[in-house]
Amino acid sequence: MRIGVLALQGSFAEHIQSFRRLDVSAPEVRLPEHLEGLQGLVIPGGESTTIGRLLTEYQLLSPLSRMIAAGFPVWGTCAGMILLARRSTDLPHPLLTAIDITVERNGWGRQVDSYETEIDVPAFGSPRFRAVFIRPPVVTNVGPGVDILARTDAGAVVAIRQANALATAFHPELTADLRFHTYFLRMVSVTGTTVTPTADTALTTT
Ligand code: GLN
Repeated sequence: MRIGVLALQGSFAEHIQSFRRLDVSAPEVRLPEHLEGLQGLVIPGGESTTIGRLLTEYQLLSPLSRMIAAGFPVWGTCAGMILLARRSTDLPHPLLTAIDITVERNGWGRQVDSYETEIDVPAFGSPRFRAVFIRPPVVTNVGPGVDILARTDAGAVVAIRQANALATAFHPELTADLRFHTYFLRMVSVTGTTVTPTADTALTTT
């Protein structure tokens, strides 16, 4: 299995390391041709404005949007979640629009820049998952087709999935717990359709 990790900015090296620990090859993706032959893609945490700008500059935005619409599995962590959201309260425009959620960037305010907490992930059972949050987005609205995979004890939505797109507001790549990486690999093997970046006709959704 080959899972690409978008390597324009942010915590891509840590994701690559996590996949390596699972014996999965995770090449860095910087150019459209790097999307070739992948079964899935991770969009890491970082700065969504920077990653968004570079996605456009490196001409990755259109092929990637088409691939995601055609069923290509994708997982965004933190800034990656913002880029996958249909609406964001303070990005100039939506980007990949893969998940029917609204997010507010840095929505917890400056005083809670970064923190760790244990969360229940019903799909994983026990033990609880140690979630590392770094200036995370707040999910303010969840559309009807979106599954909520985890909430904090206070009820905030922090992990969701809509079809082939997974998003977490926290950073599983910064802990030794590989359950979200394993979950994504399972998603890839179940939902995986062969989608190539160049075959535009095959990417047309109906
Ligand atoms: N606050 C960042 C943003 O708005 C996200 C932070 C992160 O990815 N850890 O893009």
